[in-house]
Amino acid sequence: TDRKFNFNPGPSTLPLNVLKELQNNIVEWNQTGMSIIEVSHRSKDYMAMQEETKKLIQDLYAVPDSYDILFLQGGASLQFAMLPMNFMQGGIADYINTGAWAKKAIKEAKLYGQVNIAATTEKDNFSRLPAADNIKLSDNPKYVHLTTNNTIYGTQWHTLPDTGARKLTADMSSDIMSRPMDVSQFDLIYAGAQKNLGPSGVTVVIIRKAWMEQARQDIPAIMQYKTHSDGQSLYNTPPTFQVFALNLVLKEYQKMGGLKKIEAQNKGKADLLYQAIDKQADFYKGTVTHKPDRSWMNATFRLPSEELEAAFIKQAAAQGLHGLKGHRSLGGIRVSMYNAMPVQGIEKLTQFMSSFCEKSKNSVSA
Ligand code: PMP
Repeated sequence: TDRKFNFNPGPSTLPLNVLKELQNNIVEWNQTGMSIIEVSHRSKDYMAMQEETKKLIQDLYAVPDSYDILFLQGGASLQFAMLPMNFMQGGIADYINTGAWAKKAIKEAKLYGQVNIAATTEKDNFSRLPAADNIKLSDNPKYVHLTTNNTIYGTQWHTLPDTGARKLTADMSSDIMSRPMDVSQFDLIYAGAQKNLGPSGVTVVIIRKAWMEQARQDIPAIMQYKTHSDGQSLYNTPPTFQVFALNLVLKEYQKMGGLKKIEAQNKGKADLLYQAIDKQADFYKGTVTHKPDRSWMNATFRLPSEELEAAFIKQAAAQGLHGLKGHRSLGGIRVSMYNAMPVQGIEKLTQFMSSFCEKSKNSVSA
């Protein structure tokens, strides 16, 4: 096909097999005589598919039975509000501020209690993660919140900070299921699907059931995790198409060999890209100042001038390398390379980077 290598940060590239399978089911799904977007969410077929999707997450991510998996709407942005609404109860929550998304989560939490900024790297323009010594947690917060991968700044926690016995919650929007993760360290995980899991419109929440039972009940039903858990994520009409797409993506991940294999591929792709940056360090400058914090999902770098960056993006697009413009708050280049980005995309990009660098240097010296 004429498909481009799509480096957009989200919505982002999905496996071609999944897109074809979606196409196959858009007119008739599962011999129901109806499209996947026409079937009732209360039909036996749909409910079985949604349960299977849950099971796929449980198996792939080794989610213990003491957790529930919910399919919600409103994106990660609704979770910024829903988490404190359910659990802060006027108390203190610790937030680690590693970027624009963490800041949005903090803003919402402040409406429901006292936020302790346990650490922030804002004065470094979020170009690194806080060092372990600089994280000052409260003694007894309602929970700790962190962002496992900072989509805009290209940092990712490769070793999680030690939060002791405190409840740990995480926005994993841009690296969920990119690597195996010990889910039992967390009390709540959330992620919009549109980077590593499927199309936008469905948000996956993994929540420890015992904690969910302690949540506030004097808030609207739709805002309570328990409502969705009790209703098997069918309290209101779920995003049926998105859940189906998620189901297909997860099956693809199974076929790819599971998350250990996927992690190895992601690391391989990231290594390739960072090597290309570092070996031409007089031209490409990685924006993450502490290299161990570099993200395997989103790599950010600058060129010697904004003019060269604009030319880089334009010429890359002409070669089928699409979506490389950095976030508007940071500028530069951002390469988003989620699970579904094939290694060939990174190979083609690194070849382009070498030739662009060489050409630019030659034109300056000419
Ligand atoms: N958190 C992170 C880490 C993100 O990258 C994004 C989206 N780019 C969001 C939250 C917001 O997600 P949504 O648009 O699904 O609300």
